[in-house]
Amino acid sequence: MKIAEVLKEDKITLSMEVFPPKTTAGVESVNEAVKKIAALKPDFMSVTYGAGGGTSKYTVRIAKDIKDAYEVNSLAHLTCVSSTKETIEERLSEMKEAGIENILALRGDIPQESEFPLPNQFHHAIELIEEIKRVAPEMCIGGACYPEGHPEAGSKAEDILHIKEKVDAGCAFLTTQMFFDNSIFFNYLYRLREAGISVPIIAGIMPITKKAQVARSIQLSGCCVPARFKAIVDWFGEEPPNMKQAGIAYATEQIIDLIANGVKHIHIYTMNDPEVAGGIQKNLSEILG
Ligand code: FAD
Repeated sequence: MKIAEVLKEDKITLSMEVFPPKTTAGVESVNEAVKKIAALKPDFMSVTYGAGGGTSKYTVRIAKDIKDAYEVNSLAHLTCVSSTKETIEERLSEMKEAGIENILALRGDIPQESEFPLPNQFHHAIELIEEIKRVAPEMCIGGACYPEGHPEAGSKAEDILHIKEKVDAGCAFLTTQMFFDNSIFFNYLYRLREAGISVPIIAGIMPITKKAQVARSIQLSGCCVPARFKAIVDWFGEEPPNMKQAGIAYATEQIIDLIANGVKHIHIYTMNDPEVAGGIQKNLSEILG
């Protein structure tokens, strides 16, 4: 089913992200995690795309399994930053062949060690969106957006203009970067709507359940850490089971506040941990109905 259709239904949706293995050695454990997360029957599952690396082929395979073997809607990510236009064409044919109906079209992070962009590469996600529209117009396309602004953007206003261009090019929905302070999301949502962006916005929630995740997540996303959240990590960070419980509780509370303020679509960055995904879902069982 197309994600755009899922989001049109009159209900709160809870979707979950998984990532493919980074090496062939990790295939089995990722398969197991995907199976367990799919058993929770989220409204859809997204599968990230390892930019450029040899494991990017797993994205299509996992997205196909989610859809065919586990009967959960799937969304395959695709990045263009480390690929030639030919590689993108190949991936799109593979996706079509696998019966993938939904793609999250992304640029990817610019690799530090190589020159970018090369002549035969797309520069921005919008070009990838236009290419998908050209060669696979039947695909439902989503894009990324950033409540705190994309780290490379000159300003938040400029960033929102580029988001609007992505929507005008064919993005049917947007998923946000993680954020830990809901007021930042509410303000951003207002600015998106003010800019004339009316597609569904899916709030991306990252449950921080390990102390080590904190520095990395913040470095990658550049997002603010509220004092309340910092206190949790400081207090519980050295005790893994306690940190896990506190991280699930913080994410749950964030989601409840979003829903209580009219947000209908929530996406959990599960980090391939079925216990975390399942813990949050259980905490919301009555609310999700
Ligand atoms: P773009 O939309 O191209 O934006 C990148 C920057 O360029 C922004 O600063 C924007 O303002 C600017 N810009 C956009 N269009 C133009 C233009 N026409 N002219 C000038 N400037 C422009 N990374 C992965 O490698 N794999 C994944 O699976 C993955 N999944 C993600 C899922 C979500 C929900 C999110 C939020 C991020 C994900 N990322 C993933 C990270 C993402 O690839 C990076 O954040 C990347 O740096 C930007 O990607 P984008 O698609 O937002 O790029």
